[in-house]
Amino acid sequence: MPPLLEVHALEKRFTVGGAWLRGRRRVIRAVDDVSFAIERGEVLGLVGESGCGKSTTGRLILRLVEPSAGSIRFEGRDLLALSPPKLWATRQRMQIVFQDPFASLNPRMRVGGIVAEPLAIYGRGDGAERRRQVAELLEVVGLDAAFAERYPHELSGGQRQRIGIAAALALRPSLIVADEPVSALDVSVQAQVLNLLMELRERFGLTYLFISHDLHVVLHMSDRVAVMYLGEIVEIGPRDALYGDAHHPYTQVLLSAVPVADPTLRRERIVPKGEVASPLAMPSGCRFHPRCPFVFDRCRVERPALRTVGEGHEAACHLY
Ligand code: SF4
Repeated sequence: MPPLLEVHALEKRFTVGGAWLRGRRRVIRAVDDVSFAIERGEVLGLVGESGCGKSTTGRLILRLVEPSAGSIRFEGRDLLALSPPKLWATRQRMQIVFQDPFASLNPRMRVGGIVAEPLAIYGRGDGAERRRQVAELLEVVGLDAAFAERYPHELSGGQRQRIGIAAALALRPSLIVADEPVSALDVSVQAQVLNLLMELRERFGLTYLFISHDLHVVLHMSDRVAVMYLGEIVEIGPRDALYGDAHHPYTQVLLSAVPVADPTLRRERIVPKGEVASPLAMPSGCRFHPRCPFVFDRCRVERPALRTVGEGHEAACHLY
């Protein structure tokens, strides 16, 4: 059976210009030659700093943003070749949970209407059946059916995110793109929402693309992890391989900030040089070279390709 999702050489280029660039037009490669696959029931974590292209990758997969190049296969079908009606039908099985539950819920709709909306759009059941399904979905995400009568402003951040998850589950998807699903929440409720996502994975056999800037959270949630830097995947592999044997210097930087459970084991914090480069002035060669503590001449001129460094484990670095 093919993987549930296969992404190959995915690209998104944005053209910018105007007065602030003195009329010049520049191309930003927000996502550049990104490839990966996710097996059914698997969680792939996608991690990197803000602006690295991870959220754009998630939106490209759902075709909320149109790719500039590459291919996306979902359930064995080429998503970019589907006719609009077939794409519309396929989208039922691919859903997204957004970062900001304050912005993603319509403030003028009651919770019941928000959760029932996908069912109504796809013509599933009559009013009574949808109300029954809403009550069931609220129970599934740990909320009482009475929440259906409330408005989003009456809810806490954690409750709103549970509503966002219930709406994403309404059409019984197989893939959920979870885009920073806990980063807008208080630390005290983050673990509850992460645990809920893991329970739902087991209960419904869900597959997740789990996107976060926080490697600690990604390691907790994922079977495999892909690390992005300035639009590219620089390392990808099984969670334990990345945690115990990170190869790419950028992964090592992220890992050095992850708390270690055993207080006798201290990881030395690695602070990279300088700031992330502007996408308008992408560094030549390896994009991490201006910040890398191990940079050497070749890094400045030659872009490293992903190479196998272990079983199912690849890194893009000239050191290997
Ligand atoms: Fe550092 Fe060179 Fe590896 Fe890039 S290719 S991460 S600059 S050592």
